[in-house]
Amino acid sequence: MTAPMPAPFDLRSDTVTRPTAAMRAVMAAAEVGDDCYGDDPSVRALEAMVSERMGKPAAVFLPAGTMSNQITVRVRCRPGDAIAAHPGAHVRIHEDASAAAISGAQIMTLGTRGGYGVRELEALCHEESCGWPPVRLVWLENTLGDAGGVPWPLHDPAGAHDRGLDDLGRWARAHQRAVHLDGARLWNAHVATGIPLAAYAACADSVAVSLSKGLGAPVGSVLCGDEAFVAEARRHKHALGGGFRQAGVLAAAGLHAIEHHLDRLADDHARATRLANALRELPCWDMPTPLTNLVVAPVRAPWDHAEQLCAPLRAAGVHCYPNTYREVRFALHLGIDDADLEQIITIIRRVVTALPPPR
Ligand SMILES: *Cc1c(COP(=O)(O)O)cnc(C)c1O
Repeated sequence: MTAPMPAPFDLRSDTVTRPTAAMRAVMAAAEVGDDCYGDDPSVRALEAMVSERMGKPAAVFLPAGTMSNQITVRVRCRPGDAIAAHPGAHVRIHEDASAAAISGAQIMTLGTRGGYGVRELEALCHEESCGWPPVRLVWLENTLGDAGGVPWPLHDPAGAHDRGLDDLGRWARAHQRAVHLDGARLWNAHVATGIPLAAYAACADSVAVSLSKGLGAPVGSVLCGDEAFVAEARRHKHALGGGFRQAGVLAAAGLHAIEHHLDRLADDHARATRLANALRELPCWDMPTPLTNLVVAPVRAPWDHAEQLCAPLRAAGVHCYPNTYREVRFALHLGIDDADLEQIITIIRRVVTALPPPR
């Protein structure tokens, strides 16, 4: 007799959640219309709610965060322009080189995957001269996904360094650069720090927030900015095939998610901390102190790469994700409760303890 296979627990990403029964019910009941004609009341309600929360005049509902980001690049950049971004930016490493492929823009990196500061931005923009592409777009991301869901500070502690989003936004405006905030997980930053969403968004001309990450809606992103920017974004939405007609069934899920799943992100954050604390004594990785819902653990010698741990964990029913070649990522989300987490911890301890170190 073999022991029953444990339920598979999927911690690869906070995108793996399924809509709850309550969410499916509001989707089924959603009032809809043709979004391409601006007729869908649920889409309009979602756009109004998010633009109000972000403190921006207008918003457009889009199928994906990637489309929000790429439309922003398209609106702000001409071929040959540059975007200033930290090396771990989603737009740089997870969007199929679309800034280059679709808009002809080059991403110039600065700082670390933990962000950058005003002096670094100033230095990058200072290089503009013969042959050096003009930096049209200053790119911010909060939370910093690649770095493990770290909130990018709004204000820097006085005099310490200059990495505050507010300082960066001020500098960019004073130097006529557009600023975009990729806030796929801005909700997590807001819940973790208590800083209002609109205070973060005020540092940027445009902000994109995801509905399908921690909030647990099946799809969607909302891109916010001023009226002119959003009008232009709507044109590109349609041009790229993002006009999704009776999208109210999806917008209704987003509205429900903001109303019912925002405060509970604190539970994901607490579970991420619990997971990291429980797994810290295992010899295979350096366990961080997570600040939001992502746990990113660099493997330790003699382990050499993440898949050496991800593969046996997956076989035992815990799916995790190689964040980079040498880092294992666990994402906490709506689909994992406290009882699941205790089982997950037990499985990981058992698997790792039994694992012969690689030679
Ligand atoms: C997930 C994510 C995106 C893209 O969102 P999709 O809806 O998956 O296209 C963009 N930026 C960041 C920081 C993300 O985490």
